[in-house]
Order: sequence, then C-alpha cells, then structure tokens
Amino acid sequence: LQSVNKTYQSGGRDLTVLDNVSFSVETGASIAIVGPSGSGKTTLLGLCAGLDRASSGSVELHGTKLNGLTENQLAALRNRYVGFIFQNFQLMPTLTAIENVMVPLELRGEKNVRPVAIDLLDKVGLADRSHHYPTQLSGGEQQRVSLARAFSNQPQILFADEPTGNLDAETSEKVIQLLFDLNQQAGTTLVLVTHDLDLAARTQRIVRIKGGKIVSDARV
Ligand code: ATP
Repeated sequence: LQSVNKTYQSGGRDLTVLDNVSFSVETGASIAIVGPSGSGKTTLLGLCAGLDRASSGSVELHGTKLNGLTENQLAALRNRYVGFIFQNFQLMPTLTAIENVMVPLELRGEKNVRPVAIDLLDKVGLADRSHHYPTQLSGGEQQRVSLARAFSNQPQILFADEPTGNLDAETSEKVIQLLFDLNQQAGTTLVLVTHDLDLAARTQRIVRIKGGKIVSDARV
C-alpha cells in the first residue's frame, strides 16, 4: 500500500477510515495487524486483498497494481493468489459445508474436487459435518469451513480477519497451527487481523493501527 486513504460516505459526510497508510509485506512473511475496534483493520485487510478499493493511493498485490483493474480482473487475481477468512465467515447459505469448500476449486476449473474438499474439511476437524448447511453449524464450525475454503485454492497469500475470534481454546490452537504450518511449510504469506496479542506475538511482525493510521510497526 502506498499513501492509501479510504473514506466512506456516512450521513452525508465523509468518514476517513484509513489516513495515508503505506506499508508492504514480504513474500512468505507472517504479520499481525492489531488495534482498537473501529480503527480500520478490516478495511485495511480488504484493500490489501483486493476486496475493496482505496479512495486514493495505490495498492499492489502479488506484483500487480490493483488501481486500474476491472472487477473481473480483480476477482481472477484473488482467485489465483488469495485466500480470505472473513470475520463473519461469509459462507454461502444455500450450499453445504463441502459445497462451500468446493466452489473456489471449481472456479479454478479443477475437476474431481470433492475428495480435495473432504480432505480440507478433515484437516479442520469437520469431515462429519460436510453435508450441513451454514445455519446447521455452530459459529466455530462455520469459522472452520471458512478456513477450509480459504485453504482450498492453495493461496500464496492468506488474509485472515480474526481467524480465532469464535473458537474455543483447543480449536483455536488447532487453527493457529494450520495457519502457521501453511506459512512455514508452504511459504504462504500470512496477514492476520487479531485482538489476541498472544496470537499476534507468534507472527514475525506486528503492525498497530489507531484511528486509521499506523502507529507502530515492529518485528517480534
Ligand atoms: P473491529 O476490531 O471492531 O472489527 P476494525 O478495526 O476492523 O474494527 P473496520 O471494520 O475497518 O474496523 O471499520 C473502521 C471504521 O469504518 C468503523 O468506524 C466503521 O464504522 C467504518 N465503516 C466500515 N465499513 C463501512 C461502510 N461500508 N460504510 C461506512 N462506514 C464504514
């Protein structure tokens, strides 16, 4: 990100949510973005991942400048390189757990994706819930389907917004282990937003944001 600003229109006024933010993440790094509620963390993550567009400034993802891309080009780039774990899961309600995991694989044009999806659900401990719809899953289970889906296209960059926010301590540890295994063994770049400072301390770098500005950026 280079000199990025993000403003929302709210009640007829401009609300500045990110204010002149510049930072970059090296390939293969693990980094945590921390800060108070409402400070702009989710917005920042969405801009980095090409899910949303900056109001001004430039954003580059995997060597490609995002500013001039069409929505289709952005989607293609995301599907190729990016995994995203949303704070509110964003599973498709009309699809079962396994179908949710299969979608990104099918979008990539892969064949025979069911066994791959089963394996991914097994990794997050949900093989026995594969035919449940999101409304039939607990919050933590939905979070884990969302993780399996994010892993499915073997992303080079994984963005995770509060990946352990809804999980009990034991499941949370399993999920964290999966994230760091991906980072350390597959070389996946890991960008986390978290309120959990113990989790943040397990990454290589902590970026603290407050009122839409980066207030510290430290190697752990
Ligand atoms: P939390 O830790 O509570 O998840 P956050 O640091 O991730 O918070 P953001 O979700 O990035 O914060 O939101 C930053 C600010 O932008 C908030 O004040 C929020 O109300 C505002 N905001 C976010 N999305 C929109 C939108 N679509 N329209 C208007 N304001 C928005």
